[in-house]
Amino acid sequence: MTFDTPITIALSKGRIFKQALPLLAHAGIEPVDDPESSRKLILDTNHARVKLVIIRATDVPTYVRYGAADLGVAGKDVLMEQGGEGLYEPLDLAIARCRMMVAGVEGAQMGDERLRIATKYVRSARRHFAAQGRQVEIIKLYGSMELAPLAGLADLIVDLVESGNTLKANGLVPLEHIADISSRLVVNKASWKMKHATVMRLVEALREAVGRGES
Ligand code: ATP
Ligand code: MG
Repeated sequence: MTFDTPITIALSKGRIFKQALPLLAHAGIEPVDDPESSRKLILDTNHARVKLVIIRATDVPTYVRYGAADLGVAGKDVLMEQGGEGLYEPLDLAIARCRMMVAGVEGAQMGDERLRIATKYVRSARRHFAAQGRQVEIIKLYGSMELAPLAGLADLIVDLVESGNTLKANGLVPLEHIADISSRLVVNKASWKMKHATVMRLVEALREAVGRGES
C-alpha cells in the first residue's frame, strides 16, 4: 500500500517484533534496520513516511494513547493490566500467544486461608481472585515470578505460560486459567479520525494478513 500521511507504529523488540514482521510485510512495510542489532529506537522503513518506534512492551499503550505513535502492537496482558482507555483496539493480531495462569507447586494449598500471590499482573490477579471471593495478598514483582514460591515469598504466582517448560523447570505447575493472551493492534483515537483512510487501509491489510496466517 502507499502512505500519503506520516504513520508511526510502536512495537517492542523480541517476540512481538519478530512475529509482527510478516504481518507488516503483508501491508508492504519493511524496516530498514533490525532492532536486535541496531541501537536505533526509531527505525526507518521502505516508506519514507512510515516509522517504527521500538519501546518496552509496557510502554506501547502510553505512546499510542498520547499520540506519540499512531498505532502500536500490545499484548492483551498489558492492555488488561493498564486498561484500554484512550485507545481503539480494532484487531487481534493472533501473535505472541500464551495464557495468563495461576501457578504454584504441585498440590499447592488452595484452601481458605489468605494466600500470597506474587505477580507483575497486580490488577488481573486481584480481579481473578476477587471474582472467586478469595482473600489474597498481592505482591508486585517485575520479573522471574517463578522464583517466588521456591524462595518462600508467595504461595502462588500469576504469570504468562506458553509451553509450561519454565514452570516445570522450577517445579511449578499451572493451576488455574485466567485469560488467553495475544497481541492486539491499538490505535490512537485522534489518528483514527485525522488519518482515517490510511489507518483503515493499514488495519484492513493487517486483518487480511492475520486471516492468511502470515505470522
Ligand atoms: P522483558 O522480558 O524485556 O522484561 P516483557 O516481558 O514486557 O519485557 P516480552 O517478554 O517480549 O517483554 O513480552 C512482550 C509480550 O509478549 C507480553 O506482553 C505478552 O503479551 C507476550 N508474551 C510474554 N511472554 C510470552 C510467552 N512466553 N509466550 C508468548 N507470548 C508471550
Ligand atoms: Mg518477558
